[in-house]
Amino acid sequence: MDENTTVIDPDGEVTIILKNPNAPFAVWDEDPEVEPSTPKNGEEETNEEHEQSGDIEPNGATPGDNKKSDGEKVIRVQVSAKHLMLPSPGLRRLITGGKEGRSPKKIRPKEIVTDRWNTKAFLLLLNILHCRHSEVPRKLSLDILARLAEIVDHYDCTEALGCYPEMWMNLLEAVRPTEYSRDLILWIWVSWVFHLPRQLAEATLIAIWESNGPVADLGLPIPTELIDHINKQRQAAISGLVSSLNALRHGLLCDSKGCSFDCRFMAIGILTKSMHQNSLSVDARIVAGQWSFHDLKFMVSSFSRQLEEHSRCQCQYTSWIKEVIGSAENSVTKELPADLWG
Ligand SMILES: [Zn+2]
Repeated sequence: MDENTTVIDPDGEVTIILKNPNAPFAVWDEDPEVEPSTPKNGEEETNEEHEQSGDIEPNGATPGDNKKSDGEKVIRVQVSAKHLMLPSPGLRRLITGGKEGRSPKKIRPKEIVTDRWNTKAFLLLLNILHCRHSEVPRKLSLDILARLAEIVDHYDCTEALGCYPEMWMNLLEAVRPTEYSRDLILWIWVSWVFHLPRQLAEATLIAIWESNGPVADLGLPIPTELIDHINKQRQAAISGLVSSLNALRHGLLCDSKGCSFDCRFMAIGILTKSMHQNSLSVDARIVAGQWSFHDLKFMVSSFSRQLEEHSRCQCQYTSWIKEVIGSAENSVTKELPADLWG
């Protein structure tokens, strides 16, 4: 056994060679410093995973962060076939080469190769699968948790993590993202992988309210139904707000709103002028490409202040605007799409 191998199980028959560790992950487009992320799993196979033939080559690099003789960075880990094969169909396939029915007891010493995973997250998963709970931290950053979720999803071993994901997510509640950001997408991703519906529903709503354009999946295999749901609900909320504003203007034109000619004349003028100034007099789809619902709501709320400033009557302009916003908010489905977890 290579002296630079990280030993999870000293009696383990399998050495995993992790090539190209810590590859770019879930790259946020607004960060030009980072390389683009790799395609999502299933679309184009990017993991180089196979059983490696031949003897192990000594390399003389430092433990856990080795370099092969050709300079390629690799991580080597000694593990037990049984501990990996039983809880993880994905790792079973990797170890057996897809040959069904092969017992862990019949696995001869071998090397298997994978790549791209984050080192810390990968070793954490291997420790959990080997029941080495003293090696499992009580707290994890959202970024590492998301990288762990990527590996767990790939190897289909969500249940093997038990209560850890919920515990880690509960400890992250204090810093839960409240704006549309990379962290919000990671929160959605982790919540989905680890079957946490409350956390997923809350983050989904934040994405609907806060995104100022179509939501990105960052190259993660987030279900298309969920991304489509967020984008459709976001579009529906913004379209609903613009439609409700136009309905209010129509009500003033048709005398179903307002108390007098002067009242309606003033209100129509302010609404029309304000909508035009803020480019809301165009197709709602164009509006949705420029605004988040949250920012649009803030801007429309300001209309009521202008109306109140010019008021010469008892009409409740602020209530009218609140009804417009409430109508749009209520048009959004708060429930998650059905069958997200198959
Ligand atoms: Zn009035």
